[in-house]
Amino acid sequence: MINGSCGCGAVQFELTKVPKMMGTCHCSRCRKVGASTLTFVKSDTFQITKGRDQISTFKAVPPYKYDRSFCSVCGSALGEVFSTEDTFPLSANCIDTDMDLKNKFHEFVAEKPSWLEIGDSAKQFAEHPHE
Ligand SMILES: [Zn+2]
Ligand SMILES: [Zn+2]
Repeated sequence: MINGSCGCGAVQFELTKVPKMMGTCHCSRCRKVGASTLTFVKSDTFQITKGRDQISTFKAVPPYKYDRSFCSVCGSALGEVFSTEDTFPLSANCIDTDMDLKNKFHEFVAEKPSWLEIGDSAKQFAEHPHE
């Protein structure tokens, strides 16, 4: 079991499987909501175990695609935990259990601030990933 929580512990969740994918988005919105590195989890492996009613949601406005939920007590960015899709982004920062998973890509590198140096060798994309 993989456990996760917000900064104050009001919101807690569990994953039955290590997410398959992890990526880092450098767009200004991800940076400002404090969730740049995201894991992509299958919804049937994810369960909120505490604090569902403490979670607030910031709705996506186009061109952005994902709604962003956060703990309404401490403000921790959680990802899109109320998604109805099969797979959704979950903030890697909230996962407490160490996992055998590495960042696989960087997207929106064109929006990255110059003070941030990318320190791994994952593929980089100016906008959304493409082959
Ligand atoms: Zn919290
Ligand atoms: Zn982003």
